[in-house]
Amino acid sequence: MTDAPQLALFNSLTRKLEAFEPVHAGEARVYTCGPTVYNYPHIGNMRAYVFADVLGRTLSHRGYRLTHVINITDVGHLTDDADAGEDKMEKMARAQSQSIWDIAAHYTQAYWADIAALNIRQPAKWSIATDYVPQMIAFAEKIAPAHCYELDSGLYFDVSTVADYGRLARAVTDEGEGRIEAVEGKRNAADFAIWRKTPAGETRQMEWDSPWGRGAPGWHLECSVMSGDLLGFPFDIHTGGIDHREIHHPNEIAQNQAFCCNPGDACDLDTPANSGARVWMHNNFLVERSGKMSKSSGEFLRLQLLIDRGYHPLGYRMMCLQAHYRSELEFSWDGLAASLVRLKRMIIVAERLADVEAGEPSHPKLAPMIEAFEKAMAEDLNTAVALTALEDVLAAKKVDPAAKRAVVERMDAVLGLDLFGTSRADLRLRPKAAAIDEAEIEDVLALRKQARADKDFATSDALRDELAAKGVEAMDGDPLGWEWKLG
Ligand code: AMP
Ligand code: ZN
Repeated sequence: MTDAPQLALFNSLTRKLEAFEPVHAGEARVYTCGPTVYNYPHIGNMRAYVFADVLGRTLSHRGYRLTHVINITDVGHLTDDADAGEDKMEKMARAQSQSIWDIAAHYTQAYWADIAALNIRQPAKWSIATDYVPQMIAFAEKIAPAHCYELDSGLYFDVSTVADYGRLARAVTDEGEGRIEAVEGKRNAADFAIWRKTPAGETRQMEWDSPWGRGAPGWHLECSVMSGDLLGFPFDIHTGGIDHREIHHPNEIAQNQAFCCNPGDACDLDTPANSGARVWMHNNFLVERSGKMSKSSGEFLRLQLLIDRGYHPLGYRMMCLQAHYRSELEFSWDGLAASLVRLKRMIIVAERLADVEAGEPSHPKLAPMIEAFEKAMAEDLNTAVALTALEDVLAAKKVDPAAKRAVVERMDAVLGLDLFGTSRADLRLRPKAAAIDEAEIEDVLALRKQARADKDFATSDALRDELAAKGVEAMDGDPLGWEWKLG
């Protein structure tokens, strides 16, 4: 354990900052709602996993034995979270004339590539929804007698059978106001399908036999089952994006209450553990004003698009860290460029420590910075402030390099910027559209440097023009700027 101040996390369920107290001494068990793999994730989705990663790293840094589970939803998530529309996977498979399994495999790989590019640590387990269907059926059988009813279209959860339904949500009341009642026969507008029967005469690509007929599990059921199975109820922390606070997580909570409590028990949410998790945490959205984030817009904001334009993906991680996870973050290309330059400044200094062996992570000069860092992270993961503490350490003068290296390593283990694994040259990615390769650019720049040293300005200017003709702008003077960029 560190001697860091007590970790306080904002619990969306109680709407309060709470001191983190693990359910099992010395352990932290965290479940993160993962992607529905019907398409590439956009960079807003990836913000949710950067946040969960920082949370996990912070818990590890504090000495907790972390068990982190992220699920992959490959069945059951409908085009409308409120239980309407069709399965996102089925729809995409039809549009691309491929099997759902191929769609799932392709987009899961793409998601994992983004996870790696953003230096997000591997969770203990990626749980794949379709691997848990028998467990889902068993869970549903257990809660069905006291909490569910059957309609032609499936097995529905009656939200009036649990206490405090919808407490987590902000927009939805107990009456389910704001929901569309999409299914005839539901007892309450907010009731949701935990098993969707395949309509008579149809077959779905993915369907299983169940006591309620052939069909597929509901999306909310999946997360209840995988989190409970792998982490045990109650576990410590459940995370997701802020949209999940409105429907998906209230529904998971209702199922967890039904599963964990005996019929007739009060089982209210004044005891957060009845919800299945002690703490529910939600990251706010990444927003983009022109609508480029939407997956239905042609060229949407995927991490690969940033890379294709020459931005190193860790520049995006930096952008996420600069904002508090509970604040909305606005994406802009200028903002991304500024984040990348900030990262570059840090990496230039870190490179000076490349050959230094880490010593004791302490030094009188660094103590206040370490304290500021720990305090910031303890206050509901204030990465924005923690970053400045790390920069202060990097900038500190007359400090034993071995101590400095150790402290930077420890802080970077929490923030995950990979300062010692990334070089200044790595950050200068070649945009996909560039008509000239990097080695060529470097060669011309070397000639130009020599020409300038020789005070042969005519040659220097000619070389600059040669690059400009290929769309490369040579940048002089600013040691922190880029030596070149695409014009
Ligand atoms: P999905 O694949 O749609 O289930 O979303 C994956 C994760 O991304 C969920 O935790 C969402 O809450 C989250 N999410 C969706 N859109 C955004 C956004 N614009 N900014 C941050 N998180 C988001
Ligand atoms: Zn989920």
